[in-house]
Amino acid sequence: MAEHESLEFGKADFVLLDNVSMEEFMANLKLRFEKGKIYTYIGEVVVSVNPYRAMNIYGRDTVEQYKGRELYERPPHLFAIADAAYKAMKRRNKDTCIVISGESGAGKTEASKYIMQYIAAITNPNQRAEVERVKNMLLKSNCVLEAFGNAKTNRNDNSSRFGKYMDINFDFKGDPIGGHISNYLLEKSRVIFQQEGERSFHSFYQLLRGAPDSLLRSLHIQKDPTVYNYIKVGGQIKSCINDGADFKAVADAMKVIGFTGDEIQTAYKILATILHLGNMTFGVDGDVTLIETPKLVSVIRELLSTKEENVEKALLYRTVATGRDVIEKQHTEQEASYGRDALAKAMYERLFCWIVGRINDIIEVKNYDARIHGKNTVIGVLDIYGFEIFQNNSFEQFCINYCNEKLQQLFIQLVLKQEQEEYQREGIPWKHIDYFNNQIIVDLVEQQHKGIISVLDEACMNVGKVTDEVFLQGLNGKLAKHAHYTSRKSLEFDRDFRISFIYSGKAFTGDSSSFPHFANPVLKGMWPEGKLSITEVTKRPLTAATLFKNSMISLVENLASKEPYYVRCIKPNDVKSPLLFEQERCRHQVEYLGLLENVRVRRAGFAYRQTYPRFLQRYKMISEFTWPNHDLPSDKDAVKRLLQGCGFDHDVAYGKTKVFIRTPRTLFSLEEQRAEM
Ligand code: ATP
Ligand code: MG
Repeated sequence: MAEHESLEFGKADFVLLDNVSMEEFMANLKLRFEKGKIYTYIGEVVVSVNPYRAMNIYGRDTVEQYKGRELYERPPHLFAIADAAYKAMKRRNKDTCIVISGESGAGKTEASKYIMQYIAAITNPNQRAEVERVKNMLLKSNCVLEAFGNAKTNRNDNSSRFGKYMDINFDFKGDPIGGHISNYLLEKSRVIFQQEGERSFHSFYQLLRGAPDSLLRSLHIQKDPTVYNYIKVGGQIKSCINDGADFKAVADAMKVIGFTGDEIQTAYKILATILHLGNMTFGVDGDVTLIETPKLVSVIRELLSTKEENVEKALLYRTVATGRDVIEKQHTEQEASYGRDALAKAMYERLFCWIVGRINDIIEVKNYDARIHGKNTVIGVLDIYGFEIFQNNSFEQFCINYCNEKLQQLFIQLVLKQEQEEYQREGIPWKHIDYFNNQIIVDLVEQQHKGIISVLDEACMNVGKVTDEVFLQGLNGKLAKHAHYTSRKSLEFDRDFRISFIYSGKAFTGDSSSFPHFANPVLKGMWPEGKLSITEVTKRPLTAATLFKNSMISLVENLASKEPYYVRCIKPNDVKSPLLFEQERCRHQVEYLGLLENVRVRRAGFAYRQTYPRFLQRYKMISEFTWPNHDLPSDKDAVKRLLQGCGFDHDVAYGKTKVFIRTPRTLFSLEEQRAEM
């Protein structure tokens, strides 16, 4: 708790509110935002409001102010949380993680970058070259991932369209020695389609605007994005993003990270192939489906170093199993265009996952012998997409919201658990706290046999024949009586869902058999499975939903095994204004982030706790027994004496190493008395 800030900035910790009500919470949040204080604590959780302007609070001098300090010694800041996670890792040899959540545009990615920057700044005091190299890679990887995984949306000019979890590994000295990135559910539907006012992934525009003419010529690509169907909508947008300069920055970052020239060229070729695919059209002649743009077939053949017939086959046929045989079945015209889009999306996803994989190869911990140096410890940083609710919610929004329900559940559990554990450690009795457990919502989605995902899997057993109606019938049949199913009717599955799901489902079965014979070794690496055998064609593939569910379950297990720190980001308005605090918008976010609940949990027992020596350091001047020094047997006795003298004995509990104060009012009185001295 930060009690040192002047009250004109509001309360630096929501735990100190006089009453825990939405009104008081909002008034404090607004006051602080207007005073330029974008960070506020709830105990050890940082609540951050996007300032939408450059803040002069991330420099070297600020780093120095937070380095090695305790959380409450300085005004609330991301650096304090980063330092707390780092200290816990170093002092107690604990794996920790920092979970950053909030809706699109709330400032999660910026926060994650400041946190990494802080960790980079406070480590490697001896300037070891290898550590510097690792730090540089970790920082540079952001730039590459953002180019391929971020896009301009109506909510955020640099919106992350994937979830990211990054582990940083530290050696026994506390210096970074490597890392690992896990990515979650890239929004690949964006490759073929964008809403009005939005763009596709930055990488496409960077290529068109930044690549030298010779490169564009070799890719058979024109500079003008509006020529390409897939990015036409977004290509008309005049944005403040400098794609040309970013192209060079990304290419440089890729080189520094260790991508070879061939690898970088192949990435460009895939981007170009996708653009060409988007311009491909089909027709029919009798019962034969035809490609109307044969020139593009030959361009794609050249870019992918494969044979023309392979490209044609990939676009016009699918592999199906009939009994013991695998046969090639021709697409209808409509199937061919869906298939083309599915292929484009699958290629982009492969490219993205391959980039992440290559970065991981390069940053993974090498030459670290745990037997000699002891266990290497980890700080994980999770920058996950926030709740998204649109007029029409697609499969991807469904996954995103499910992911948030799951993380919210973990949050409540862990915050409660941490409290409980601290009380136990300190020998203070624990009182049960009531809270809304959203396990019931998580179950609704993930339960075996009757959860939404199981119903979805069942409906999809017959890939190609499933319709919205079949799926909705299944849901209604199994879940009609579920209280939260009916109350959550907003989970509607519309056309968007059908397209993005079935064809992403199809991509799992179909895309790998589409281009079996690449001559280019980099491409071969992206499609390592080669041509599918009969068992693989007939085997029921895991659906996109099940894959996502599995990845969420393992993410949550991973987080639960670490000591968590939280950053909860709030977006103050929808117009990117540094001045506007839209009350309703913010209240809504405070609600679904469960922040009031968080304050209540934190206050249910004791609002404030402090070690005896630190407590004395701050308040010893208010008691004759402790000023300037005490002669009691221990600091604990001295604190007891001090609080008894002030008449606060009834409001406190004395733990083994810390004093616990129940109500904030007591603390304020102490602060007032201190100020009067
Ligand atoms: P998404 O879920 O769409 O990826 P996000 O929560 O990651 O959104 P960011 O990309 O981090 O959002 O932030 C959006 C924009 O807000 C940034 O591009 C930047 O302009 C501004 N912003 C966010 N945090 C800060 C900050 N601490 N200081 C200044 N500007 C900020
Ligand atoms: Mg982001």
